[in-house]
Amino acid sequence: MKFTVAIDGPAAAGKGTIAKAVAAHFGFAHLDTGLLYRAVGVLSQGDDPVKVARALSPDDLQRDDLRSAAAAELASKVAPNLDVRAALLTFQRDFARREGGAVLDGRDIGTVICPDAEVKLFVTASAEVRAKRRLAEFGPDASFNEVLADVLARDKRDAERSAAPMKPAQDALLLDTSNLSIDAAVTEAVANITKALEGRR
Ligand code: C5P
Repeated sequence: MKFTVAIDGPAAAGKGTIAKAVAAHFGFAHLDTGLLYRAVGVLSQGDDPVKVARALSPDDLQRDDLRSAAAAELASKVAPNLDVRAALLTFQRDFARREGGAVLDGRDIGTVICPDAEVKLFVTASAEVRAKRRLAEFGPDASFNEVLADVLARDKRDAERSAAPMKPAQDALLLDTSNLSIDAAVTEAVANITKALEGRR
């Protein structure tokens, strides 16, 4: 069975947690597509990002330096490059159509990578709530205002770029986790996917 769940949204809205939970629930494979851009950003310091993107291997996604704020920053700087995005397209589309179902989370999955995904979700939350979540991850040494400024700057870069800007697909279900717990959002996502799966039987 081929079945794709596309989950998009800004940083720290909860899309990664929701993607992992629904993948585990349905036994689908999961790809965090942000890791592709993070790996290209980290590996291309002083090198051509297009060359790096074309040579990227699944092993590169296992690097342990991809989760940092610095890697996120490097990622969002190479992400507007159309040739970088084109180089990463086939890998993502093949992953999406693998046997057994797939969940991909990112910024342009429902709009560009998998416009025919069976289920599309757009997970969002206010910038303040997302900055608070990031602060909890980074620990007491980080400043709320700095984290908030980073969140806002990355949102702006991702939403305003001309190549595959972050935006909800027209037929995406919106999940705003500002006032909704991640558990409740997972429950809503699971219900939505279950309905789509039943509709195919
Ligand atoms: O999701 P994550 O925070 O790991 O993404 C890091 C950056 O990679 C984003 O800010 C965005 O610039 C880029 N990205 C993208 N398209 C995706 C996933 C991530 O442009 N599908």
